Amino acid sequence: MSETFARSGELTDIGSYPAWARNLAADCAAARRAVTHHELFQLMRQGELQPAQCRTFLIGIWPVIEQFPQYMALNLLKVAIGRAQGHEEARRYLIRNIRVEQNHADHWLAWAEGAGLAREELLHGEMPPETHALSHWCWHTCERDSLAAGMAATNYAIEGATGDWSAFVCEVDRFEQTFPIDARARSMKWLKLHAKYDDTHPWEALEIICTLVGTNPNRRYFELIRSRVITSYGYMKMALDKCLDTQRTISMPPFEVPEACTAFRERD
Ligand code: FE
Repeated sequence: MSETFARSGELTDIGSYPAWARNLAADCAAARRAVTHHELFQLMRQGELQPAQCRTFLIGIWPVIEQFPQYMALNLLKVAIGRAQGHEEARRYLIRNIRVEQNHADHWLAWAEGAGLAREELLHGEMPPETHALSHWCWHTCERDSLAAGMAATNYAIEGATGDWSAFVCEVDRFEQTFPIDARARSMKWLKLHAKYDDTHPWEALEIICTLVGTNPNRRYFELIRSRVITSYGYMKMALDKCLDTQRTISMPPFEVPEACTAFRERD
C-alpha cells in the first residue's frame, strides 16, 4: 500500500512528515482552530467564564478525561509486534502514556473542587448529550477503527488541540486569579500540565501514525484518517458550544445524588 516512513528532521516540525500528513494538518487547521480558540476558552483565559458555563464544561468533559486511558487501551488491543511497521512504536507509546494519564483524572477532580463543584456532582451530575457525544465518539473510533485512525482521532487530534487550548488559557494568569490563593496550584494543575506536556505527545502520535500508514497511503485511507481528525474537532466544538450556551444566570439547587446511583453504589 505504501512506502516506509522514517522521520528526518524535527519531531515538532510538520515539514518532517510525508506530504499526506502535511495536507492533513492544512485541511484540518480551521476546524482545529475553531476548538483551540473557542469563545469558551477566550472567556476562561480572561477569567470571565460564568460559574454555570464552567460547571457544564467540567461535568460534560469529565467522561473523556476519565476514559482517555481506556481509549488508549482499546488501541493497544490492536497492536501485534511484527505485524507491520509502527506496531512496536505504538505499543511503547500507548503503554507509556496510559501511565502518564494515571493522575490526570485526579487533577480534573481537583480543578472541579476548586471551582466549587462537589465530587458527587461532577461524577453524577446531569450532562448534555452534546458533551456526552464526544466520549461516545472517542470510544467508538478507538474500538472500531484501525490503530492509525483511532490514534489520529484521540492522541493526535484531541490531545493536540487540548495542548493548544490549555496553553492559550495559561498564557495569562487571569483564570488562575479566579481561584482562592490556597487552592490555586491544586486547581490549575491539570491545565498547566496539559499546557506543557501535550507539546510533544501529539507529534509522537503523528510520527507513529505515519509509520503505520507509510508515505503514500491510497486516497481512501487518507480520507479515513482525515475524517477521524475532523470528526474529533467537530465533536469538541459541539461540546464547547453547548457549554457556552449554558444559561448564564442559572440558579443551581443543591445537588442530590440520583437514587439509581446510590443503589448502584450499595451493590458495589
Ligand atoms: Fe491528560
